[in-house]
Amino acid sequence: MGKFDLYKVPLKAIAEGTHLFEYNLDNDYFKKIDSLEVQKGKVKASVKLKKAAAAYELNFQLGGVVSIPCDRCLDDMEQEIAYNGRLIVKFGNDFSQESDEIIVIPEAEGEINIAWFLYEFIVLSIPVKHVHPSGGCNKLMSGKLKKHLTHKVADEDDYDFDDFDASDDIELSEETEKDIDPRWDKLKNSIDNN
Ligand SMILES: [Zn+2]
Repeated sequence: MGKFDLYKVPLKAIAEGTHLFEYNLDNDYFKKIDSLEVQKGKVKASVKLKKAAAAYELNFQLGGVVSIPCDRCLDDMEQEIAYNGRLIVKFGNDFSQESDEIIVIPEAEGEINIAWFLYEFIVLSIPVKHVHPSGGCNKLMSGKLKKHLTHKVADEDDYDFDDFDASDDIELSEETEKDIDPRWDKLKNSIDNN
């Protein structure tokens, strides 16, 4: 049995009507997926498959928690996730994606493996900003990051424009500096909002 055989949803061989498939996506699943964003979690997924004459509609419902690094202190944190979405599957000659929702698979295949779709839906449902609840961060780590930021701000305040030759484009060099390290701005904001 292949490592993702469990996630094959039969299409061609299934009777018309509605069918329900349920999955428990645990650490073992994330290990098999072997991707960096999410390596641990406990997510329940249910997939309602509706077979009509010319197409298959798959409605996905996912809910649970994943363990991912905190934006503020980089330690792992538990993030609740929830996702609702659907896919329309049609048969054709080759694999192709017609839109975000519509995919085409070869008729000879007759089934769809949803292991990766489930993973993508989980990643999609992780909020851009995810941090430990107030006070839950690794103090040592967030302290170090804060210190680094303070230094950076102090350096900017002391910036000595006299060092520049009058012909230098000062505005340009300021912009360049901002472009180099946008990460610190992001971190600084999350610490300030703490
Ligand atoms: Zn944290």
